[in-house]
Amino acid sequence: MDNKLMLMIPGPTPVPEKVLLAQAKHPIGHRSGEFSEIMAEVTANLKWLHQTQNDLLVLSASGTGAMEAGIINFLSPGDRVLVGSNGKFGDRWAQISQAFGLDTHIITAEWGKPLDANAFKQALEADTEKAIKAVIITHSETSTGVLNPLEDINAHVKAHGEALIVVDAVTSLGAYDLPIDELGLDVVGSGSQKGYMIPPGLGFVSVSAKAWQAYEQATLPKFYLDLGKYRKAAAKNSNPFTPPISLVFALQTALQMMKAEGLERIFARHARQKQATRAAMRAMGQPLFASDEAASPAVTAVMPQQVEAEQVRSVMKKRFDIALAGGQDHLKGQIFRIGHLGFISDRDILTVIGALEATFLDLGCDGFTPGAGIAAASEILTAG
Ligand SMILES: *Cc1c(COP(=O)(O)O)cnc(C)c1O
Repeated sequence: MDNKLMLMIPGPTPVPEKVLLAQAKHPIGHRSGEFSEIMAEVTANLKWLHQTQNDLLVLSASGTGAMEAGIINFLSPGDRVLVGSNGKFGDRWAQISQAFGLDTHIITAEWGKPLDANAFKQALEADTEKAIKAVIITHSETSTGVLNPLEDINAHVKAHGEALIVVDAVTSLGAYDLPIDELGLDVVGSGSQKGYMIPPGLGFVSVSAKAWQAYEQATLPKFYLDLGKYRKAAAKNSNPFTPPISLVFALQTALQMMKAEGLERIFARHARQKQATRAAMRAMGQPLFASDEAASPAVTAVMPQQVEAEQVRSVMKKRFDIALAGGQDHLKGQIFRIGHLGFISDRDILTVIGALEATFLDLGCDGFTPGAGIAAASEILTAG
C-alpha cells in the first residue's frame, strides 16, 4: 500500500498535516514586514519552548551545524575543553572540537551507559588554573537511547565557575524538561527534524550572557555560522542570510501546536510513551540497551534475543511499512531503535508494538506470550 510509511526513528520524525500545509504556502520576502512578524512570533515561542530569556537563534543548518556554531563562536584555537562521549553524537562533539584545534579531553563511558558525573567533577576540581574553557556534552545520546546526567554534570561545571556548558539537546528539547535558565546552560543546540515536528533544515542555538562574553574573546574563524550576525539580525526580527522561509512557516505552525498542548503535557506524553515502549519490550523478553534510570525520552534501543536486529527492521519495513532505526558504528546489527519523539500518539506506540509482536513471531521468536507487549504498553498508556 502506497503512502503508509510510518516513521518511528529518532529523526526525521513525522510531520503533522497542518505543518505540511503551512510549509506548502508560497514563499514571501524575508525582508518583508510580514516575515518579521513571523520571526518575532517564532522566536518568542522558541524561548518559551527552551524555557529561557537567552538569545535564541535560528540557523539554516541541521543539528550538526548548530553544534559547530556552539564551538566556533565561543572558543579559540588551543582552548582546553572537556567532552563527554558515550555514543555517536558524543564522538561527533569530540571530532568537531578536534577539527577546530581545541585541546580536547574526552571523558568516555561505554555505549549504552550514561556518562559518569563524578569523572567531570574530578577533572574540573583538578583544574585549579581554570584552563578548561568549556564542558561539552550530549544530553540525549540518540545512538544508544541513553539520557546523560546533565543536571549533575552541570552542577560541577557551575562549581568550577569558569567553563561554559555546551549541550547537544537535539533529542531532548521538546521531549524532556530542560529549563535552560534555571540550570544556567550557556549554549544549547537542537535541530528541527527531531522534537519540533517539522522537516530537517533548521538548527537552533540558545546563548547565555556568559557565552556572549566568551564570544567577545573567541578567535576561531567563522562567517556563515557567526552567531553575532544572527543576534544582531534577531534584534530586528530578521536574519543575516536568506532563511528557509517555508520551514519557518512550518515552525510557526508547529510551535503553535506545541503551545496549545503545553510543556507539561508534551513532556508527560514522551515519558509515558517511553515507559510503554520499554514495558512492552520487557514483556516480550527483549533486553533494553539503556537502564531505566538513564533512558532517553526520545528513543528506545533494544538488543534483541533469538533474532537479528536487522531482520527485525527488515520485516517491520516490508510487512508493515514501519521504519525503525538500526545500530550505528559497532552497534550496527546489534540493536534496533524505536523513535518516540515529536508528533507521536499513543496509537502509534500500540501500532509499533503490535507490529513488533507479529514480526518477532514471524521470525520464530517464541519466548513471549502473544499479546504480552500490547498488554504491557496499553496498561501504561491507559494509566497515563
Ligand atoms: C540528530 C542528532 C544530531 C544532529 O544530526 P543532524 O543530522 O546534523 O541533524 C545531533 N545530536 C543528536 C543527539 C542527534 O540525535
